[in-house]
Amino acid sequence: MSELLKKDEMKPGGIGQGGSMERRYTGSWRTFVPITDFETCIQCLACWIVCPDSAIPVEDGERRETNMHHCKGCGICAVECPVDAITMVREGEEDDE
Ligand code: SF4
Ligand code: SF4
Repeated sequence: MSELLKKDEMKPGGIGQGGSMERRYTGSWRTFVPITDFETCIQCLACWIVCPDSAIPVEDGERRETNMHHCKGCGICAVECPVDAITMVREGEEDDE
């Protein structure tokens, strides 16, 4: 994580460019769903940094519930979370968690 650029050092690009992501409902591709345990989450924001679809909103310095319109269930956030606060479950089986 220490090798990553700071937010203000990053250049806008790809799906992150203004207006482009709104038109791509990547959530329709999803077969797995990230479930976040906010009791375990330490608000490091690593998931926000690595999410390729900007599907993890941050407000007042804290991450909020994942935006399911844009989350495509890639699981990168779950892999990178340092405290295993994110669990990937099959779409439709979220309530079993
Ligand atoms: S599963 Fe992928 S797209 Fe969804 S919030 Fe995590 S990193 Fe973003
Ligand atoms: S990476 Fe894990 S601990 Fe960090 S903000 Fe995301 S869910 Fe919370």
